[in-house]
Amino acid sequence: MKKVDIMGVQFDAVTLTQAVDQALDQIRAGKKGYVVTPNPEIVYAAMDDPSFCEIVNRASLVLADGIGVVYAAKILGRPLQGRVPGIDFASLLMHRMSQNKLRLFLLGAKPGVAQKAAENLQKKYPGLLITGTKDGYFKEDREAVEAVNAAGGADVLFVCLGAPKQEKFMSSHLDALNVTLCCGLGGSLDVFAGTVQRAPDLFVKLGLEWFYRLCKEPRRIGRMMKLPKFMLRVLGYKLSGKGGKA
Ligand code: UDP
Repeated sequence: MKKVDIMGVQFDAVTLTQAVDQALDQIRAGKKGYVVTPNPEIVYAAMDDPSFCEIVNRASLVLADGIGVVYAAKILGRPLQGRVPGIDFASLLMHRMSQNKLRLFLLGAKPGVAQKAAENLQKKYPGLLITGTKDGYFKEDREAVEAVNAAGGADVLFVCLGAPKQEKFMSSHLDALNVTLCCGLGGSLDVFAGTVQRAPDLFVKLGLEWFYRLCKEPRRIGRMMKLPKFMLRVLGYKLSGKGGKA
């Protein structure tokens, strides 16, 4: 699979369908691993934190979640196949898992949210086997690992703790978890539970999902300011001659 380097993060140049096919191949082969979905905020954090960058790059799939990453790739002259939002990846993966009667565990979000998400997902994907849920506000990671394993494990574990907590959790506990594939999916459980609405299609098509989210949750402004900072660093890197041909 072709890798594309964006400021040190090694993205997989895949479409949504290719990403899900690859994930299913890995599950069928029983090869343990984890999926990360870096947006500009995560790439920005990885640029200044080599150990976090290494955790991200050790993933079996690194998906470009966010239009900012796609623009950065274009600026650097190393285009991706488009963006693969984590929530779209999760939705198609669950659809395919339901056809194959595969097992899923949901970890993360505030108490009650993962349970509500499980109820909704079970209705939407009847063949999907949800082995259990656990909220993301545990004191020690061990509690979460034990909860997953006590439920008999799963083929896939959605880890929705926000970045960088979820990436660190997946890389630290992959061996101890009785699961094949972990997927770090940020706030996806809130969307599946219906507690947070995804942006209308028009915003998604125009690449303005971030703007919709900002209007809904103005307190995210601090986090979102990392997007222009990230783009400036990409431009600086390009202008310094290190970024390759445009
Ligand atoms: N979260 C959690 N445990 C924590 C911190 C956060 O389960 O210790 C959850 C939080 O409730 C939310 C998700 O992690 O459901 C992070 O959502 P956010 O919108 O920050 O993620 P994004 O989608 O922007 O990556």
